[in-house]
Amino acid sequence: MLDNSRLRIALQKSGRLSDESKRLLAQCGIKINLQEQRLIAFAENMPIDILRVRDDDIPGLVIDGVVDIGIVGENVLEEEVLDRQAEGEDPQFKKLRSLDFGGCRLSIAAPRDFEYTGPECLNDLRIATTYPHLLRRYLAQYNVNFKTCLLNGSVEVAPRAGLADVICDLVSSGATLEANGLKEIEVIYKSKACLIQRQGEISPIKQALIDKIMTRIQGVIQARESKYIMLHAPTEVLDDIVALLPGAENPTILPLTGEQNRVALHMVSSESLFWETMEKLKALGASSILVLPIEKMME
Ligand code: ATP
Ligand code: MG
Repeated sequence: MLDNSRLRIALQKSGRLSDESKRLLAQCGIKINLQEQRLIAFAENMPIDILRVRDDDIPGLVIDGVVDIGIVGENVLEEEVLDRQAEGEDPQFKKLRSLDFGGCRLSIAAPRDFEYTGPECLNDLRIATTYPHLLRRYLAQYNVNFKTCLLNGSVEVAPRAGLADVICDLVSSGATLEANGLKEIEVIYKSKACLIQRQGEISPIKQALIDKIMTRIQGVIQARESKYIMLHAPTEVLDDIVALLPGAENPTILPLTGEQNRVALHMVSSESLFWETMEKLKALGASSILVLPIEKMME
């Protein structure tokens, strides 16, 4: 029996989002033993239970209020919302934030020799997909009708197997399409993983825990996107140096022992530093340039 006083978080059990979801929670300081193949895992150091389910179930679990928060791809979430709306429901949830993983696009792909001239030429074709609602919403803009071939997996083999003319499936690198003799012809939806919360009453204790997790997630994601930069530079070109550094905010300037005209500069940069920028810094006279990863941040 689940304890209702503990925060329930739904994560994908195994798949493309599971490792990053687990890593994010671990980096937020939530200690969970996920070794066993169990549906529920308990955090050791916070009142949190983790439900490990198929990603398709996560939006419904949040919308129905079975769990408090969940991590899921926007594609799966949006499809569930459209599906429920088509059934006459008014699904409610709060989107807390987008996350920095699970990036992909939902695209229409056709056999390599298909002569594609625009969405209109898809009219009346049979399209294999796991996302009929997202596809319908997209093609409706062009008044295109299509026949569906609903598949929950192996969508990319449908044209070769004679099940459909074209497909609408998730793509990240395009390698799977390529391997199946398909070409991407239309991107219909861009997706990332996101964090969602159920609507409705929530105890102040649980809400405070969600707020704490949100602050930590912000710190983790910001730290991943940031670098700590240290370098030595001639004092007279400091302005030019700072202008080259991405997202430079209040660099710290420190004296260098025994050096009159050179200083040390330390700063947090909101982006990584490209080799090209490092070469320009060096050309300006900077030396001992170090770019370090940041583990955590709190503002
Ligand atoms: P489950 O068994 O949990 O239902 P699944 O097979 O439906 O898993 P995965 O392939 O693990 O799902 O993908 C989960 C999510 O990862 C997708 O819904 C999408 O948001 C994201 N994703 C990122 N890149 C890709 C990709 N190249 N192909 C498919 N999904 C991707
Ligand atoms: Mg799934």
